[in-house]
Amino acid sequence: MTKFTSLYSGSDRNASVIEYKNTKILIDCGGSFRQLCESLKELDLSVDELDGVLITHSHSDHIKALPMLLKHTDLKVYSSLGTHEELYDFKMDMEAERRVIIAGGTKFYINDILVNPFDTPHDTGGSMGFNFEFGEKIMTYATDVGHIPVEFKDWITANEFVFLESNHDVEMLKNSARPYFLKQRILGKRGHLSNKLSAEFSNYLIKNNGVKKIMLAHLSAEANTPRTAYESTRSKLEQNNIIVGKDVELQVANRGVISDTVVF
Ligand SMILES: [Zn+2]
Ligand SMILES: [Zn+2]
Repeated sequence: MTKFTSLYSGSDRNASVIEYKNTKILIDCGGSFRQLCESLKELDLSVDELDGVLITHSHSDHIKALPMLLKHTDLKVYSSLGTHEELYDFKMDMEAERRVIIAGGTKFYINDILVNPFDTPHDTGGSMGFNFEFGEKIMTYATDVGHIPVEFKDWITANEFVFLESNHDVEMLKNSARPYFLKQRILGKRGHLSNKLSAEFSNYLIKNNGVKKIMLAHLSAEANTPRTAYESTRSKLEQNNIIVGKDVELQVANRGVISDTVVF
């Protein structure tokens, strides 16, 4: 049995935990160290029990608690060379034995969990997503993806559960008070995934990979609502004769607080 919990997910902070057999791993560590500890406590976990932390990329909403995490634990940090280089530039360097450089398409184990990372189109060096393999069951974690490159159809191997960005509604974003350059950045091919593209890819993953559970993630505070994101994917699936609640479970990750644990 695998348990996945989003501690918080959105444009301001991101962290999730996977528990499988005797292994517990953290994915990203945005937000404060205190909030991270408090959220883990809600799961009866502490940072000392973790077996490693995976970092998708070096934007602050994914790494803010890292300096304190490095200080208070001896956790290994798994990330791409590009991300490790940026962490070094941000003075978040660490001892060589804690720095694990991973590469897209090269699988590795963290204790019981097999991780298969893949590169993602985003505006920072070495941005990644992850497939996690638990025997036959596979889940994918993919946020901060500007678009769905054709390679994703091979790289994303989830057959059970997908934690997928559904960042913004394009019209809400265009009408928001955000500055022009930021709108262009978010809408760009290396920005964030719109509800529309997320819905289309969810449909693909259900039809082609047999995915059974989807959690929409990394929602924008200003250019999306949980209801808008949910309805976008639900209606797209319904147009394709996939019924939410019967053929697939669909949820939206909470922005600032812990979400329901997904078990599979
Ligand atoms: Zn982000
Ligand atoms: Zn980012």
